[in-house]
Amino acid sequence: MIDPLRSAGYRPMGAGRAAGAARGAVRRQVTVPLRLPEGGSLPAEVFSFDGLVDGEEHVALGLGDWREAVRRAAAGGEPVLVRMHSECLTGDVFGSERCDCGPQFHEAVTRISAAGGFLLYLRQEGRGIGLYAKLDAYGLQDRGLDTYQANLALGRSEDERDYTAAAQMLRALGVRRVALLSNNPDKAEQLGRLGLEVTERVPTALHLSSANVRYLTAKARHRAHTLRLPDDRVNGADGAGGS
Ligand SMILES: [Zn+2]
Repeated sequence: MIDPLRSAGYRPMGAGRAAGAARGAVRRQVTVPLRLPEGGSLPAEVFSFDGLVDGEEHVALGLGDWREAVRRAAAGGEPVLVRMHSECLTGDVFGSERCDCGPQFHEAVTRISAAGGFLLYLRQEGRGIGLYAKLDAYGLQDRGLDTYQANLALGRSEDERDYTAAAQMLRALGVRRVALLSNNPDKAEQLGRLGLEVTERVPTALHLSSANVRYLTAKARHRAHTLRLPDDRVNGADGAGGS
């Protein structure tokens, strides 16, 4: 089995320097071919981990020539392309059109496979509030609240996601310098605070439909998400995923 830490010349940062400096380790890696919506498949190396701070079963997908990407970044070259994707059962698996998570996932897999890098699949459904609460929030959104207001109405935070485990996973994979595939500045800020170097944020495409336009509009207006929406697209249902 390849040890990506050793192959990348990885040296852990000082233990206890920050919350994110807690040690996680690769538990297992297995190859899983991923079927693509447009046909064909791509190989993914699926990593599980020991020692993640929140005890959740997060996984990383190593895509394309991730080994070379890790080596290159460790040697001072281009950073590793990474996407932190929060689990969305309704969007990722059922193909729900209330959010853009499914298309975002497939876009990320395709782009990272071309560049070499990792997709972290983080088990924080509904921006961290869980599946049932997310479905409760959908009910509130059907009565006019947006995706953030609905979380607040449920007595939850707008966004409860925490990327400490993600930072542990990246360290365990030998990744310290990251080009982050995301429209969400909060993710880059959190990773930076957790001691990773985010050298750039790479925007993702807009996956707009009549069913998700209110959800995407709420995201674009909120916390400086770098989504660019046509001004006239403000009708339709609202979702709750959160990328
Ligand atoms: Zn979603």
